[in-house]
Amino acid sequence: MAKGMVIIGAGECGGRAALALRDLGYAGPVTLVGDEPHLPYERPPLSKDAMASDAPVIKAIASDEILAERSIRHIHSVQAVAIDRAAHVVRLSDGSGLPYDKLLLATGSVPRKLPMPGLGARCVYLRTFNDALAIRAHLRAGNRIAIVGGGFIGLELAAAARRLGAAVTVIEAQPRILMRGVPAEIAKVIHEAHEAEGVKILCGDGIAAIADDGAEVRITLAGGQDIVADLAVIGIGAVPVTGLAAEAGLTIDNGIAVDAELRTDDPDIFAAGDCCSFPLGVYGGRRVRLEAWRNAQEQGALAARNMLGAGEVHAAVPWFWSDQYGLTLQISGLSDEGSTVVRRDLDDGAFILFHLADDGRLVAASGIGPGNAVARDIRLAEMLIAKRAKPAPEALGSQTVKLKSLLAA
Ligand code: FAD
Ligand code: NAP
Repeated sequence: MAKGMVIIGAGECGGRAALALRDLGYAGPVTLVGDEPHLPYERPPLSKDAMASDAPVIKAIASDEILAERSIRHIHSVQAVAIDRAAHVVRLSDGSGLPYDKLLLATGSVPRKLPMPGLGARCVYLRTFNDALAIRAHLRAGNRIAIVGGGFIGLELAAAARRLGAAVTVIEAQPRILMRGVPAEIAKVIHEAHEAEGVKILCGDGIAAIADDGAEVRITLAGGQDIVADLAVIGIGAVPVTGLAAEAGLTIDNGIAVDAELRTDDPDIFAAGDCCSFPLGVYGGRRVRLEAWRNAQEQGALAARNMLGAGEVHAAVPWFWSDQYGLTLQISGLSDEGSTVVRRDLDDGAFILFHLADDGRLVAASGIGPGNAVARDIRLAEMLIAKRAKPAPEALGSQTVKLKSLLAA
């Protein structure tokens, strides 16, 4: 009798993988284990829509009814604590064991902790729905919110907090916000939008000390400035959850190391989503780890196909977005590979930056504008990147040349 498929981590990737196994016609047992008390749910709304609501609700990836209909067993509030690879059994924190034929590790990532003394109850991180609820309770007029880290969490939360009338200060140690992966020209647009909304952004100064007395937090910068807040939200990056895999003897290399089929060095164990590093085919097999919603979905589905023996390699182009105020930023590809940048202006102040490698290959496109202004062109750019196209820079920069025509060329 089939032992079945076991998925550890009931997040975006794990949830999608469980559904995909059924979509693919797999009829054996499917078990999804998660240590959170909730159904698998979407995280992107936690720093956006959920903050705009007085009573945030979970946006579930699958309801209890759908999980039951599809015979997916969801074990929640329980942690996988060990993998017995020889016996093909996962040990759970409730003392039980789950046998598997194939195992998927979709353990995600967790916030990087600020490594300094002085943090207390008013210094928090945002990753889970419960974190979002706790933060939401502080976002109101009259409250002072300090945000440590000018990355995506910090800036999306800053926008949400301003909308609710809180006074917001963002502290970023680097010389500018969104230093990693976002071109300076686009970061500048976002910086200006925040300042226009009244957010104070302090860049280029590290934190010297934090004192949290339970009533307020005092953050002292290296330059001597003090920021006093009712709540400090720390968003300084995420680290992959790899402990379970490491203890089972699997290779870790900036995440659980998998091959192009998302298989670890154990042929019966796969890993996908935020927790894994993998060779990115479109970029010559360069090993990367992505922390993005669409990647978690795509890899969950790909892992499901390969657990069933499809032998398919990962071929997607990275893509992600961020919403702040009325602006949407979208990036496809990996911009740090680009050496030449070509700008295309669109309507309503929107623009796209195309990044070309030395050999003329398009490697990334980053766009910003109101609403959906850049969506279509970023999608076309993504297709050009996937084709390893070398479009003429003049054509990319010209407002009269349609990107679709470059795709056909
Ligand atoms: P996760 O969603 O982290 O799920 C992993 C799950 O596994 C967690 O529930 C964890 O508790 C559980 N787990 C871990 N270890 C164990 C264990 N041993 N036993 C049982 N369970 C375990 N991306 C974008 O592209 N655009 C956005 O706008 C965007 N906004 C975001 C906003 C926020 C606030 C956050 C936090 C993330 C956002 N992201 C965004 C990133 C995106 O949500 C993640 O890339 C995605 O959730 C990754 O999915 P995952 O399934 O790999 O990991
Ligand atoms: P992030 O985007 O990596 O940004 C963290 C920022 O904090 C970086 O600019 C980082 O600079 C800075 N930083 C690091 N240490 C610092 C310190 N000691 N003091 C001040 N600043 C410091 O990560 P995040 O914003 O925390 O997001 C966490 C996770 O949620 C990520 O997986 C992210 O992808 C995901 N998320 C994504 C979105 C989106 O895609 N729209 C939205 C929200 C959340 P360095 O570069 O120098 O480290």
